[in-house]
Amino acid sequence: MTGTSGRASTSADAVEVARPSLVTCCQALVGLPVGVVRPRRPDSRFLASLTDHGLPTSATTVDVITLPQRTRMVPTPGVAEGVWRPVRSPNRVNAFVIRHPQATFVVDPGVCVDVHSRAVAELPWILRVAVSPPRDVVDIRRALDLAGIDATDLDFALPTHLHWDHVAGLLDLPALPVHLHRPEYTWMMQDRIAPQGGVRPSLLDRPVTLYDLDGPPILTFPRSRDVFGDRSVILVPLPGHTPASIGLLVQTTSGPMLLAGDAVWSHVQIDRFRQKASYPGLLADADRAVAWETQHRLYAVRERVTIVPSHDHGGH
Ligand SMILES: [Zn+2]
Repeated sequence: MTGTSGRASTSADAVEVARPSLVTCCQALVGLPVGVVRPRRPDSRFLASLTDHGLPTSATTVDVITLPQRTRMVPTPGVAEGVWRPVRSPNRVNAFVIRHPQATFVVDPGVCVDVHSRAVAELPWILRVAVSPPRDVVDIRRALDLAGIDATDLDFALPTHLHWDHVAGLLDLPALPVHLHRPEYTWMMQDRIAPQGGVRPSLLDRPVTLYDLDGPPILTFPRSRDVFGDRSVILVPLPGHTPASIGLLVQTTSGPMLLAGDAVWSHVQIDRFRQKASYPGLLADADRAVAWETQHRLYAVRERVTIVPSHDHGGH
C-alpha cells in the first residue's frame, strides 16, 4: 500500500473531547419513538439512479478470521427504526484478522484491556448507557490468543473508521503500524476537538500510513483502493457514520464479502432497509443524510456480496 507515512505525534492532552449538544441529545431521544412508528422511507429515485460498476474478480483469496467476542443482546427498536422483531438483536465489538499472501492485518482492532476505564469513561453518559460493552468484553490481546494468532504476526491495522470501539485495542498493540484513510485521519488529528473514547491516544507513537481512495468505481461505490494490487482486498468509501469511513471488499473462498464497519449496525438494517434508530444513531453518526445515502449503496449490492456489519457478525 502506498501513501504518506509518518508518526502521529499530536499531543493528546491539548484538545477537548467532543460532546453532543443538548439539542442533539433531545433530538436523538425524541426521534426514537418517532422512528419506531414512522421509519425513514428509502429514496427509490436515488436507489434507481445508482450505477453498478461491476464486481472485480481475483485469482487470490484471503482468509477472514472473526476474533472471539461476547455478544450483548440489545432491543431491536434501538438498533433499526421501526423494527420490532426480533425483540432483541446481537451487538458485538468485532475485530477481524485478514490473511493475505503478502500480509496479515487486523481490521478494527477492537478494545483494550480495562476499556471501561480507559475509553468508555470518556463517553458522555447518554452514549455510555447505550453503547457500553459487557464487563466481560474480550480485549484484543486475549481475542488474538483465543484465535491462536500471535500479535507479532500482525503487519498492520486497518480500521474501518476512527471510533473508540474500533481502535482502542491499538493501545495494547504498541508500535503496530496503522493504515488510515487520509480524510478520516485529518478529521481525527487536526481538529481541536477529538472524538471521544481515547481515539487519538490510540494513534500516537506508531507508524501511520495514509491512503486515498483514488481507484475506479466498484459496484455502487464511486471510488476504491486496491490494497495489494490483485483485487483481493479493495477499500470503498462508506461515509456518513464518520466523515470518511471505509469498507473492505474481500475475496474469500466462499465468495465476496464486504466488511462494512458501522455503516450499518445490524443485518436487519439491510434486510428491512431501515436506518439506525435515532438514539443512539443520531449521536453516533457524523452525518445522517450521508449515512443514509451510503446505506442505499449497500442495499443495492446486498445480493451480490455478503455484507458484514462490524457489530453483527458471528454468534458466540
Ligand atoms: Zn462507529
